[in-house]
Order: sequence, then C-alpha cells, then structure tokens
Amino acid sequence: MAFVRCRRDPCGVICLILTYFSVFYADYVVIQYVLIPAYSDSVWCTVHGSVFNLILLLLLACHAKAVCSDPGMVPLPETAMDFSDLRSQSSRMNERGCEGWTVCNRCETYRPPRAHHCKVCQRCIRRMDHHCPWINNCVGELNQKYFIQFLFYTGMASLYSLVLVVSAWLWRIHSEREGAEKEGEETPSKHLIVGHYIILLAESVLFGVFVMVIFYDQLVSIITDETPIEQLRNRLMITGQGSSSSSSSSSSSPQPPPPPHTRKPKMALLKEVFGRGSVFCWLLPLHSSPPSVGGITYSALPDYDV
Ligand SMILES: [Zn+2]
Ligand SMILES: [Zn+2]
Repeated sequence: MAFVRCRRDPCGVICLILTYFSVFYADYVVIQYVLIPAYSDSVWCTVHGSVFNLILLLLLACHAKAVCSDPGMVPLPETAMDFSDLRSQSSRMNERGCEGWTVCNRCETYRPPRAHHCKVCQRCIRRMDHHCPWINNCVGELNQKYFIQFLFYTGMASLYSLVLVVSAWLWRIHSEREGAEKEGEETPSKHLIVGHYIILLAESVLFGVFVMVIFYDQLVSIITDETPIEQLRNRLMITGQGSSSSSSSSSSSPQPPPPPHTRKPKMALLKEVFGRGSVFCWLLPLHSSPPSVGGITYSALPDYDV
C-alpha cells in the first residue's frame, strides 16, 4: 500500500521518466553521433559501445533495485495499539533489551532505533537516509547499497560519455580541417550533431557533478555511522544545549549529550551496507545478507501487549 502511495508521488514519477529518458538519450547520441561516425573503421567502436552499454545496463539494474526494493519499512501493527500507558510500555521494552525504540504517532506503531517517518512514503523507514525522487523511494537500511551503486554507475556513465563526446568532437574538427576544401558537409546535419554533442555534454556534467556530490555524502554518512537526519538532529541538539546553557548557566543542570553510536571500524560499517562479500560483489546489484545493526536485528521486535 505504501509502495503504491510512493509511486503516486508526482515529483518521483517525473524524475523516474527523466532518468530513463536521459539514459536512453545518452546511449542514442553516443552510438549514433559519436561512435559510428568517429570509430566506424576500428575495433574501438565495438569496444566503447559494449563497455558503455554494460555501464548503462548496470546503472538501470541498480536503479530498478533501488526503486523496487523495500527500503526497510517498519511494519504496521495488525491491530490498533494503545499508547495511553506509553511510559510504562517504554520501560518494559527497555527491560526486554529494546532500548532506543520510539513511537511514531503517524504510523501508530513502535519503531526500532534510527527509524524515521517519511512524509512521502507515509511510513517509518529503518535507518532512513532521505527520500529520493530520482528513485521514487526512500533510501533506507535495505536499499542504500543499490542507491549508492546507481550513483556510482551514473557517475561512470557521465564521465565516459564526456570523454567520448570531447574526443569525437576533436576528431571531427581535425577531419574537417583536413578535408575542408574538398567537400563541404551539409550544414543541417553538422548543426544537428553539434547540438546533440552540446546537450549530452551538459547532461553529463550536470548529472556527473550531482551524483558525485551525493555519492561522497553517502560514503561519509556510512563511515561516520550517521545519517543526514541524525546529523541534523545532533547539530540542533548541540546548538540548543549551547543556547540554553548560555541563557541559564547557573540554575539548571546541563542536558546529557545525545548517545553516540557504537564506534565500529570503517570496513565493518561499509560491510553493513554492502554485504559481507568481496569488494567486487559490492559493485553488483545482488542481494546481500541482511546486516545486524547495533545487535538489534529486526526479528527482535517487541511482542506487543495489545
Ligand atoms: Zn511513521
Ligand atoms: Zn520516503
């Protein structure tokens, strides 16, 4: 149901269409206006065509997995829950070893630590990073790997098409200089080719820079074990503490700092997202064993007293 709601997000649907259109347009221009005219007489036409299409295939596969995968939606309770006795419930949950579980008023359910409510999906998502319109889905614990792979292959495709277009354009200028006097190429097709080159260059630079920035942010958030939502919340808490302590420094006792996440090695944090396989497997949109974050697996749902 939430998936259907997610699919109905107009911004997400437009971004999905734009993604597919951009990918197929780049493939069309690279084959039709870059490889065939510039490399038709050599084996490089086949090599570049195969490698570029392999990257696009992996890009689309990762994108499809990121779009269709469950990002880690917290299941809704089958029956309505009574939150009137919330404090005693929470203390009982902590006794059972479920510390950090909170209540979502919108979903009307308990959610595990680091889960947040997404207004677009209208559900709580485990270790929610953000809602991404480009995949029309949330980026959460279970699909972050596919999202990062999608960013990686988009960056690679952008860089590859950039290099191919620039080299083909230079080749065209060079060959035109050599045979300028002999035969003048018909101007409409020349303008059309240059037009396609400019559009693809702009597309490659825009998407390339965009995805590289997000890719970097994603890696930093994994290595620091802090999602953007948690970074913002912690920053707000720190500034809030600073202002409150400066206003009433003597009367009230200082608020305790937010509990830091367990300090794990960077490789362990990366493996939680990309799986325990080899680094080569990290590049493929394959299902990996579910991580057990902070010792609390999802099977450790508290048995609700309803
Ligand atoms: Zn919720
Ligand atoms: Zn969402």
